[in-house]
Amino acid sequence: MKEENKIIEDFREVLSLAKRYLRQEKERGVREIVINAKLKMQNAKSKEALERLRKEVERCKKCPLWRSRNNVVFGEGNPSAKLVLVGEAPGRSEDLEGRPFVGAAGQLLTKILASIGLKREDVFIGNILKCRPPMNRNPLPEEIKACWGYLDRQLRTIRPKIILALGTFAAQTLLKTDERISRLRGEFHPFAKGVELIVTYHPAALLRNPGYKRAVWEDMKLLKKEYQRL
Ligand code: SF4
Repeated sequence: MKEENKIIEDFREVLSLAKRYLRQEKERGVREIVINAKLKMQNAKSKEALERLRKEVERCKKCPLWRSRNNVVFGEGNPSAKLVLVGEAPGRSEDLEGRPFVGAAGQLLTKILASIGLKREDVFIGNILKCRPPMNRNPLPEEIKACWGYLDRQLRTIRPKIILALGTFAAQTLLKTDERISRLRGEFHPFAKGVELIVTYHPAALLRNPGYKRAVWEDMKLLKKEYQRL
């Protein structure tokens, strides 16, 4: 009996220490720690799922573009990004490096992101097609059809709140429309439940035509405002 009382006494002491510890942690923001742990877990899951998908895409032969590619350009960035950028397809530099937006247009894109306080690592950057079309020609409908499932799975895994479509092709494909980019940009479009899409000119088009600079800046201001609300 004496032994039993001692165990109960010890147990009470442990409980009281645990209570005090939790109270102190709460005062120091324990709720935040719990939320961070959840976020970290979600991030790890998403990263793992994307890695599995990447391996699958790297073996893909679903359309003839696999024959001419040097590398699959799967996309890169934050696996739980609130913002996903979608371009058209890899160009020459991207095909050689296996990474999206690394040429001159990519460098401009990095600057555009910085202008609204974002780094490439904050967002996820990908394309409609994962392999380079020869001579950078426009993607063909059958290539988009074959490749679409990969982008769809990327978006379902990352679960962004905002998609930024870069250029006419990405905008028209994602919004399933033939409307001109000048009429699509400058506002948010519903994309899926809880996901909005905004359109702006492709950085490569901006390099060719600096006159688009003002419009891109206006789009970025809109994007920043919405991003900060998330
Ligand atoms: S473009 Fe897409 S569908 Fe075609 S081979 Fe590459 S990964 Fe596969």
